[in-house]
Amino acid sequence: MKGVFTFLGTGGSTGVPVIGCKCEVCTSKNPKNRRYRPSGLIELNNRVFLIDIGPDFRFQALEFGVDRIDGLLLTHTHFDHIAGIDETRIFNIREGKPLPCLLSQESFEEIQLRYYYFFKKEVSAKFDFTILEKEHGSRKFLQTDIGYVSFSQNGMKITGYRWGDFAYISDIKKFDESIFEGLKGVKKLVISALRPEESPFHLSFNEAVDFIDRIGVEQAWLTHLGHFLDHEAMNVLLPLHVKVGFDGLKIEFTWKK
Ligand SMILES: [Zn+2]
Ligand SMILES: [Zn+2]
Repeated sequence: MKGVFTFLGTGGSTGVPVIGCKCEVCTSKNPKNRRYRPSGLIELNNRVFLIDIGPDFRFQALEFGVDRIDGLLLTHTHFDHIAGIDETRIFNIREGKPLPCLLSQESFEEIQLRYYYFFKKEVSAKFDFTILEKEHGSRKFLQTDIGYVSFSQNGMKITGYRWGDFAYISDIKKFDESIFEGLKGVKKLVISALRPEESPFHLSFNEAVDFIDRIGVEQAWLTHLGHFLDHEAMNVLLPLHVKVGFDGLKIEFTWKK
């Protein structure tokens, strides 16, 4: 069965253009240099899965025609990945039920703190949470087998997800060797890398390429990109099997043969 992944956002935590920035990238006319905060959509098995829901979610949904979500998957709870979560209330109203949400125990605890009102009788977005108990494994969510791996960024635990031969790994900085076990057989990979150079919370382009080559994927795309270089200029720096993603790009993958 084929699935389709769509990049809803490929920008870093500030998005591109950055507020008030007059650099060449931020003032570029090339639409590929406009990047919403990081998020993606998986359409598979008659279901629509949203990966992360940052502050640009409403605009992403309107621009890319996201009118239905069957489940939300969270990688972690930093602002750029979660600040649009209240917007899911419209799906509760339309479907008449809480929205299924898959996340780690750590992310769940953060949500309980930051969004305490989801758990009260107040009028707010409502969720049906499924918590991942292990570091790596596979979980049925909406009748679909989803693989997951764990890694970290600045002390926060992050979850990466996998559907068949496609995986989405965002905000990776530190990882255990065992991650490669969970990603064995992945042919198409989306992975975060903020800029070509090293940065404290993200992989550099070279580090991302090393990670990609350890899995042996056929094609990889970088996401979570800053305003340091133009879209085309970044591609020139990368080997042919690695490209920079852009908002709206679709990737087809195989879920089950
Ligand atoms: Zn981020
Ligand atoms: Zn700029």
